[in-house]
Amino acid sequence: MACTPIIQDGIKIGWMCGDFSADEIRMETCGDCNDSFVADYLCDYPVAAEQTCDRPLCKKCAKTIGHDMHYCTSHHETWRDYEKSGEGHQKILDAISSGKQLTVIK
Ligand SMILES: [Zn+2]
Ligand SMILES: [Zn+2]
Repeated sequence: MACTPIIQDGIKIGWMCGDFSADEIRMETCGDCNDSFVADYLCDYPVAAEQTCDRPLCKKCAKTIGHDMHYCTSHHETWRDYEKSGEGHQKILDAISSGKQLTVIK
């Protein structure tokens, strides 16, 4: 039987055991705080054409920036910088309001 430790805030809080594969329970390590958890979110920040950051994020670290759109901590900071700069801000607002995936912003 496979067991996977469940880590929260750097402390092992328990084990998840059973006859399952890691894929089945979608066990991930949060890209930001290294907690082990059942993945809730992936970073939706565009890093290349048709490609998003996809960093797994726990509920605590995922920053909601729009409907069903979440950014990791560092990309959320980048986004906030864009937010302050004229053109990038507008692009992001357009993308959020249209519900579309963001295109690459450099
Ligand atoms: Zn986290
Ligand atoms: Zn990210």
